[in-house]
Amino acid sequence: MLGPVILAASRSDRTRRFLTATPMTRPVVGRFVAGETVGATLPVVKDMADRGLDVSLDVLGEGVTDPADAVRARDAYLRLVDALGPLGLGDRAEMSVKLSAFGQALPGGHDLALRHATEVVEAAEGIGTTVTLDMEDHTTADSTLAVHSELRSRFPRTGAVLQSYLFRTEDDCRELARAGSRVRLVKGAYKEPASVAHQDKAEVDRAYVRCLKILMAGDCYPMVATHDPRIVAIAQDLVRRTGRGRDGYEFQMLYGIRSAEHARLAAQGHRMRVYLAFGTDWYGYFMRRLAERPANLGFFLRSLATR
Ligand code: FAD
Repeated sequence: MLGPVILAASRSDRTRRFLTATPMTRPVVGRFVAGETVGATLPVVKDMADRGLDVSLDVLGEGVTDPADAVRARDAYLRLVDALGPLGLGDRAEMSVKLSAFGQALPGGHDLALRHATEVVEAAEGIGTTVTLDMEDHTTADSTLAVHSELRSRFPRTGAVLQSYLFRTEDDCRELARAGSRVRLVKGAYKEPASVAHQDKAEVDRAYVRCLKILMAGDCYPMVATHDPRIVAIAQDLVRRTGRGRDGYEFQMLYGIRSAEHARLAAQGHRMRVYLAFGTDWYGYFMRRLAERPANLGFFLRSLATR
């Protein structure tokens, strides 16, 4: 119940101003955000690589309304590619991109976002890695999947994200599984209306399993992005039953959430990728993490009260 309330409150400018202005928020944000700069984040990437964990790096930022900010977002990713190159990690360090940060919501935004994304994916290919397009709210899904399809015609390893809470997603899974794509399956983190998305958590979980079965049975590379232990066990079972080798799928989890599980799955021989968000524009990302687990809100409020 509280999750949708937090997501609705996160749209208020007053909430945003309060939380981003108070320095007391920072230590709590630091649980989910790896650093403010590339320089501060690279040691985290190296440490994870040493521990057998792969990463997907997200330069925080979304919902850009000024074309100059979209250019800045693209440039931030190009600087990230320059910084990652010398580490020689190849696709063990990929990137996650939100097209709304590249101007998708602006007039002509589809083409603008495609242009910026193309430059970033091309640079990523140059250092042997790739990009996954994060999925945002349902109004952007058609445009994001069309950009994904256009990018794949030149860069076939570009990844897509599908959200099990959307009614459309089983069809999208069939489509992308057939096309042999890299597909990250998530439950979905936005507040969506009942006309397009399951509202009941148990329904979202059941839809996730149905989608996972479609992806695992298909020709794609499934990226199982969840912290849900029941679904992780089901995925392991499907991997065994479909005979997928270590290079045929991967698990993904978010930085700061169930870290012991990251290590456990990697130690069992699964490819495990941690989504590492970094930067200063953390508000939207942080609020979604609070909404996913209302207990985080209690932890956050207590930490404010005790400072
Ligand atoms: P849940 O049932 O929500 O959680 C299972 C268990 O995990 C909980 O009981 C709890 O122990 C733990 N947990 C989950 N969330 C938290 C949290 N915030 N804090 C502490 N513990 C928690 N969503 C999108 O809409 N678009 C994307 O592009 C996208 N990319 C993602 C990439 C990755 C790698 C991951 C892991 C998630 C991504 N998400 C994305 C978020 C996703 O949609 C879910 O909101 C999020 O993963 C929580 O769902 P869950 O599958 O972990 O299951």
